[in-house]
Amino acid sequence: MKIGVLALQGDFAEHIVMLRRLQVETVEVRLPEHLRGLDALIIPGGESTTIGKLANDFGLLEPLRLFGQRRAIWGTCAGAILLSKDARREQPLLSLMDITVQRNAFGRQVDSFEADLDVPELKKTTGNPEPYHAIFIRAPIIESVTGGARVLAMTPDKRIVAAQQGHLLATSFHPELTRDTRFHEYFLSIAD
Ligand code: GLN
Repeated sequence: MKIGVLALQGDFAEHIVMLRRLQVETVEVRLPEHLRGLDALIIPGGESTTIGKLANDFGLLEPLRLFGQRRAIWGTCAGAILLSKDARREQPLLSLMDITVQRNAFGRQVDSFEADLDVPELKKTTGNPEPYHAIFIRAPIIESVTGGARVLAMTPDKRIVAAQQGHLLATSFHPELTRDTRFHEYFLSIAD
C-alpha cells in the first residue's frame, strides 16, 4: 500500500514516522499530481484554516474531494475539521463527512489534555483490549454525526471525538504523537 500524507502544514512528519514503523510506503502530498497512485491519504493536525487556505492556493481542494469520494482519508484534529461538512464558520472545507465540528471546543492550548478512550472498533481490528490513550491539543469536538457517519469514540464525559463514514475517518486527537500504532493500523484496514 502507498499512503499519502498532506504535507502543507502541521505534524505530517509524525504521521510518516508512524506509517514507516508499520512498513508502509509514504508520499508527502503538496500538489494535485502527488495524489496519483495513492491508496489512501492522511490529513494531519495543524491549523485547519492554514491547511485549507494552502490547499486552495495549490489547487488541491477539488482533487482532494474527488480522491475522498473513492479512497480512504483520515483527518486528525485539524484534518478532521477539513473533512467535515460544517465547522460553524467560513473556512475552506472538503465537506466529505456528515459531521459538524466545533473548533477549539475544549479551550485554548493550555487546556490540552490526555484521556483514555474505549474504542470497540480498535479492539476488534487489533485484538488489543487496552484502552486507547488519546492526546488532545486545541481539539475540536464532533458535535453531530448524521447521514452515513457513525460514532467511533467518545470521551469519558460523552463528547464525540472519533467518527467514521465508510472509508473516511475523523479523530479529534493525535495518534501520530503517541507510540501506539493501533489507530494507524485501523486506518490501513479501512484503506485496504
Ligand atoms: N485548533 C486547530 C484548528 O482549529 C486544530 C488543532 C490541532 O490540529 N491540533 O484548526
